[in-house]
Amino acid sequence: MRRLIAANWKMNKTVKETEEYIKKFLKFVEHPESREILICPPFTSLYVASQLLQGTGVKLGAQNCHYEKGGAYTGEISIPMLQELGCEYVIVGHSERRHIFGETDELIHKKIVACLEMGMRPILCVGEKREEREARMTFKVIETQIKLALAGVEEHIDKIDIAYEPVWAIGTGTPATPENAVEVHTFIRNLLNELNPNNEGKTRILYGGSVKPDNAKEFMKYDAIGGLLVGTASLDPESFSKIVYSF
Ligand code: PEP
Repeated sequence: MRRLIAANWKMNKTVKETEEYIKKFLKFVEHPESREILICPPFTSLYVASQLLQGTGVKLGAQNCHYEKGGAYTGEISIPMLQELGCEYVIVGHSERRHIFGETDELIHKKIVACLEMGMRPILCVGEKREEREARMTFKVIETQIKLALAGVEEHIDKIDIAYEPVWAIGTGTPATPENAVEVHTFIRNLLNELNPNNEGKTRILYGGSVKPDNAKEFMKYDAIGGLLVGTASLDPESFSKIVYSF
C-alpha cells in the first residue's frame, strides 16, 4: 500500500501564498505515484489549489467538514462542497478541533459516518494529552477515541486512515520517539483487527507531531508507520518536499 504524506496548513496561507507555494512545491515533485501526497489548505485556498494540482497526482484535502449535506449551519462547510472542489480527503477530529473548539467524540463520529456515506476518505486523528501519557492512559484514550468514532461503521475501516498525533508532540518541536509511535501504531492495528477481523489492512496509520525533514526518515524506517501528517514543517514547500521524499 502506498504511504500517505499529508500537509496540514491549519489557518495559514492566503490565496496568493497558496499559489506561490504550490507552484514551487510542484517543482520538487517526482514520481507522485510512488507515494500519496496530500495538501490540506484552509477552505479559502481550496479552489486555487484544486486548479493548480489538477493532473499532477498530488491530492487535495480539507481540514474539517460538517456532517450534514447542507442546511442552516452558519459558518460550516459540507462534504459535497469539498468534493466539488476536488477534495478526496478530510481531516476529522484534529486535536486542535477537539481541544480548542470542543469537538466531542460524538460529533467526530457523526463526521466519520457522513464521510463514509458521501464517499469522502477521512483521516481520523487520535492522540493523548501529556497528562494522560504521564498517567499511563495512552492506550485507553486511543482505544476510546477510536471505538467511539467508528462505532457502527467498523465494516468500513478500510475506507479510513488514522493519524496518531500525541497532543504533547503537536507544534512543540518535540516529537514522539519512532519507537513510541510504533508501539501505539501496533496497538491501533491490533484494535482495528479486533473491531473488524475481515478488514483488509487498508487503513493507513500515520504519525503526526513535530515531524521535520531531519527526523522524517527515522519514522519511515518502520513498516508500521503508514505515513505522516505534517503541520509546521509543511508550510515551506522545500521542507515539505524533503519530508515527502525522506524514504
Ligand atoms: C498537526 O497539527 O497535525 C501537526 C502534526 O503539527 P506539527 O507538525 O506542527 O506538530
